[in-house]
Amino acid sequence: MAHEAGCLCGSVRIAIDAEPLAARMCWCRLCQYLGGGTATENVCFPAEAVETNGDVRWHESIADSGNRMRRGFCPTCGTPLFSLAESRPHLTFIRAGALDDPNLLAPQAIIWTEAAPDWACLDPALPQHPAQIPPVA
Ligand SMILES: [Zn+2]
Ligand SMILES: [Zn+2]
Repeated sequence: MAHEAGCLCGSVRIAIDAEPLAARMCWCRLCQYLGGGTATENVCFPAEAVETNGDVRWHESIADSGNRMRRGFCPTCGTPLFSLAESRPHLTFIRAGALDDPNLLAPQAIIWTEAAPDWACLDPALPQHPAQIPPVA
């Protein structure tokens, strides 16, 4: 396997047989809930390369972008693991914090900056977008 990921308690393990396609930092309001107050860091992989072992619970919602999203987390420890967009079924987004190597791919852009709190620290070296931008693939 090229890369691995999993949750804090270890009951969910994820094997990824592909290199990441892209990584973005998202400050949308919904991600602030998932990130405990900060942005989420989302690393995108081809969905068919991602194999999950263990029980994952899913929460469905409509994102600020209007996309219907499913977000997966470990029911035991609550670690946010996945984000799936109904409109892009060929992509799986894995939260960077769940990767065994969080250095795998640094964020290449920051999105939804208009929703970020005043104290948010936005890297001036990265492209910043006030809201959603076109999908990575
Ligand atoms: Zn867990
Ligand atoms: Zn978001």
